[in-house]
Amino acid sequence: MNQRAVIIGIDGVPFRLMDDLSQQGVMPYFNQLRETGVFTQMASSIPEVSSVSWSSIITGKNPGEHSIYGFTELLPSTYTLSFPNSKKLKANPFWQNQGEFCIINVPSTYPASSLNGVLVSGFISPDLERAVYPTSLLEILNEFHYKVDVDTKKARKFPMVLFKELFEALESRVAFSHYLWEKIPWNVFMLVFTGSDRLGHFLWDAYEDESHEYHSQFLQFFSRIDEAIRDFGEKMNPEDALFIVSDHGMEQTQVNVNVNCVLEQEGFLHRGKDPRKGYSNIQEGTRAFALDPGRIYINKKGKFPRGCVEPGEEDAVLREVCNAFESLEIQGQKAIAHVYENHHIYHGPYSESGPDLVLMPARGINLKGGILAETPFDQDVLSGKHTQKDAFLFVCGDCSISENPTVEDVVPLLAECLGW
Ligand SMILES: [Zn+2]
Repeated sequence: MNQRAVIIGIDGVPFRLMDDLSQQGVMPYFNQLRETGVFTQMASSIPEVSSVSWSSIITGKNPGEHSIYGFTELLPSTYTLSFPNSKKLKANPFWQNQGEFCIINVPSTYPASSLNGVLVSGFISPDLERAVYPTSLLEILNEFHYKVDVDTKKARKFPMVLFKELFEALESRVAFSHYLWEKIPWNVFMLVFTGSDRLGHFLWDAYEDESHEYHSQFLQFFSRIDEAIRDFGEKMNPEDALFIVSDHGMEQTQVNVNVNCVLEQEGFLHRGKDPRKGYSNIQEGTRAFALDPGRIYINKKGKFPRGCVEPGEEDAVLREVCNAFESLEIQGQKAIAHVYENHHIYHGPYSESGPDLVLMPARGINLKGGILAETPFDQDVLSGKHTQKDAFLFVCGDCSISENPTVEDVVPLLAECLGW
């Protein structure tokens, strides 16, 4: 196979930001690229969470087929929270196709499993040893001072520390990627920048507000990403396909809605007195509870330890929960734009393990599904929050993009370009 493709991911970046910064001159190379390919808005996964969205981007499948619904899930028949990793992914990523692959920093690919090529997992990677395939590359990663993610604890307090960490992580990732570009043979080279999501969460207001103390640093980070894309772009052969893609959008957070507190207030959820028990604190009589960010599960009899909703009652409980959220208001405004039922959005053999309902928040509303929250509404310490409709996709290659692409369309387009 001679045809090659390069995929550059930029985590957490809305169409609007790329459109804006390329036209403003902050990302001149991307502006130039726009003349050569198709640049469009792309729908993220539901929920619009990186682990779900990247899982769809790399497999071309729906959560009902790849079985990743969030950063957390409950172990079957328990209220024990677990964190699904790449071993839980039930659909094949595109690098199981024929060809040679270089895959760097794709979220939710930890632990790294074997492939024909190289893989360095993205967040969440608890240790670098198991994030690398083949492990012989570990020494080289260390030589490049490679870091999977920034230290958000330090960065939370001091924006200058955040920028220092973001730039350091970006530089080492870019340098290591250039090394691999030259060193190993590949048909598909995929590199994801994830600092963009961290920056968006911490300082989205610095992007929106030109008078913000850190506005110019915010732009500088994207200008550096543009240069990095240029450096790879200029090394490409003219016939290579180029994909640039984000997993979800971002916007300013106005207020948090703690879904479990709303469920409790409406009488669907009963929590005991010991919050240290986490989801095991769920008491008898609970009819529904939530996992992050807005995934609602009916507490079905036989499915959960203290499940009480009988099969014949499930539809009625679903309707009641839907109504409660559809009419939820904050300062006279609707908090929830849409409530999806499982069968509206999921298809495939693992649909049943997905949530019964997924809430899509209205503009500025940040949904939180943690079990420990104490009030229905509160303010977030972070500035930016994910959005679903406005991820972006740029493709320059021999393939035809549908009018409203979703994250599930990336692999089919790649396959078209590569003749798989
Ligand atoms: Zn994020």
